Amino acid sequence: MATFVVQKHDATQLHYDFRLEVGGVLRSWAVPRGPSLDPAQRRLAVEVEDHELSWGDFEGTIGAGYGAGTVIVWDRGTWSALGEVPFDRALAEGHASFELHGEKLRGGFTLRRMHGGEKPQWLLIKRRDEFARDGGDVVAERPESVVTGKTIEEVAAGG
Ligand code: MN
Repeated sequence: MATFVVQKHDATQLHYDFRLEVGGVLRSWAVPRGPSLDPAQRRLAVEVEDHELSWGDFEGTIGAGYGAGTVIVWDRGTWSALGEVPFDRALAEGHASFELHGEKLRGGFTLRRMHGGEKPQWLLIKRRDEFARDGGDVVAERPESVVTGKTIEEVAAGG
């Protein structure tokens, strides 16, 4: 099964890089507020450049330059497509649903592209299923790396 990873990235602006393995690369979206398990919380997800699969393991501090700042692997696991349409086509059409099998994120999600904007902007929305929650904030409740158990502050401090 294909992998997914969510990297918490304390760059110029804190965000969560949501990445799905598709066609041998990590398709990527920057989610300023992070993903939510609450279907009522539609999270802005700005499409960014694809990354190599190996980047999904990165945890540490990026030095000067684009993306400078600390990164932790906030969640990871595997994913599978939902729906009849081939996933590539669903993404191209701007409406793709999938199921995540992570440590923190589980169950169905939808990415829906919005119109307008300089960069392609999407909404990341939890689908209603047994893993959906009303209220709560998984990024605040579970801030730690799923690899080391450290917070981004601890990694930034070199601990
Ligand atoms: Mn980033």
